[in-house]
Amino acid sequence: MILPIVAYGDAVLKKKAKEIDKDYPKLSELIENMYETMYGAYGVGLAAPQIGLPIRLFLVDTEPFAEDETFTKEEQEQLKNFKKTFINAQILEEEGDEWAFNEGCLSIPDVREDVFRQPKIKIQYQDENFKTYVEEYDGLIARVIQHEYDHIEGVLFTDKLSSFKKRLIKGKLTNISKGKIKIDYKMRFPAMSRKR
Ligand SMILES: [Zn+2]
Repeated sequence: MILPIVAYGDAVLKKKAKEIDKDYPKLSELIENMYETMYGAYGVGLAAPQIGLPIRLFLVDTEPFAEDETFTKEEQEQLKNFKKTFINAQILEEEGDEWAFNEGCLSIPDVREDVFRQPKIKIQYQDENFKTYVEEYDGLIARVIQHEYDHIEGVLFTDKLSSFKKRLIKGKLTNISKGKIKIDYKMRFPAMSRKR
């Protein structure tokens, strides 16, 4: 089942998400629905807060990047086969000189900006069966994991931009939160009745 993706401006995207355990209701069904939702929107990652649940769960499938000819054959092969569910993830280490990559987000359609992140990470997480792993990633796979991990920490890529860039996209972000945007996947927009 395809779930509506929560748009920029919803408070759930700003919340630090909570850990879950194996008793979380209908978890396998939720994960299945999240994959369907992500593929339906042509995303390479989706975090639970983006479908309105403040829990530490996200998915990554970098296959669409494998078509990109700017990567080496080896990198393309890695990207093609990287599909993983991360539960209760904690990034333990990040290292290296920050590099820029043009990021987008299913919750922030039509906004793409260069974001600086460190290239290497060490992450601890659990899989669908709550088996714990500690793994290291680098390059674009690390980048997608960092973006999704930020979601469960209540951080969006737009939070990481310079104040100048933030000002430039402010109008676009307001329009997204008001639903004034054309998109070809299902979204849920926050009510904008509250005043600052
Ligand atoms: Zn995102």
